[in-house]
Amino acid sequence: MNVARNVHELIGRTPVVELTSFPLPDGVRLFAKLENMNPGGSVKDRLGQYLLKQAFLEGKLKKGGTIIEPTAGNTGIGLAIAAIRYGVRAIFVVPEKFSIEKQTLMRALGAEVVNTPTQLGMEGAIARTEELLREIPGSYYPGQFQNASNPDTYYESLGPELAEELDGKIDVFVAGAGSGGTFTGTSKYLKDHLKNVKCVIVEPEGSILNGGPSHSHRTEGIGMDFLPPFIDRRLFDGIHTISDEEAFERLREAAKKEGLLVGSSSGAALAASLREAATAQPGTNIVTIFPDSSERYISSGIYDEVMKNEEENAVNSRRG
Ligand code: PMP
Repeated sequence: MNVARNVHELIGRTPVVELTSFPLPDGVRLFAKLENMNPGGSVKDRLGQYLLKQAFLEGKLKKGGTIIEPTAGNTGIGLAIAAIRYGVRAIFVVPEKFSIEKQTLMRALGAEVVNTPTQLGMEGAIARTEELLREIPGSYYPGQFQNASNPDTYYESLGPELAEELDGKIDVFVAGAGSGGTFTGTSKYLKDHLKNVKCVIVEPEGSILNGGPSHSHRTEGIGMDFLPPFIDRRLFDGIHTISDEEAFERLREAAKKEGLLVGSSSGAALAASLREAATAQPGTNIVTIFPDSSERYISSGIYDEVMKNEEENAVNSRRG
């Protein structure tokens, strides 16, 4: 039988698709790795498995233990799936603003969710996590924002997959950064194994990489209000700061033109990739990561613009 023995075996090895409906300069090709095709629906399934595997190997976590993690949601879903595999209790601390779908999925996977006020950002969620760790004996903090295993996850999985899938022909790698693990690990792998790869990091307006002030944004899953210790600025060959409007416009185009239902961080990655494409030489292959799907953001209004346009068209056609 050609079947997976369990859901955990299905993590990774996601497909790469070429995007063909956006206007690109001659000889420039654009590819996206569809991380929404992981069982938990995001790039963070890889992280959940890797962090818990390492914690067990290092003896920091045992069956029946508890993990506590501050997360925007996708890491929680990835860790919740891994917690099932390893038989541990999972508690996630999530700022209120994050999508209700993600919080529901974490609970569906058996995890407990603790909310913190939106205005305190991820730092507020981290502070609450530290309190819970002190209160619950035998608890373990996977710590995606400080754990060096975070970028290692992607050095060992996403990087080699991309190099193989594109036959090593990658000129520009574009990825958004929340913790920065995906960008850091994948960029390191590509720079270690391929020649002359340009690595471009993507953030929303309101994130600090470009030196601007930190403020809230609607693009979910990316953006930094502090720099995790594993961030290595030497890996940045370019930084693109993308407005929420542009990210949302691009994700709606991805749906309409390509049939790809992806989230706002994918919209930002697409926007940055198209900017790279606009100035690229013929023969350039650009590859980006689409970290998750749009379905978990319907209630946050990801397609409200589409709905509004539909209503306006309907009114206009009745008038006409
Ligand atoms: N996009 C989405 C939707 C995410 O949830 C995350 C993780 N926060 C990212 C992108 C960025 O991943 P990383 O934390 O590895 O930078």
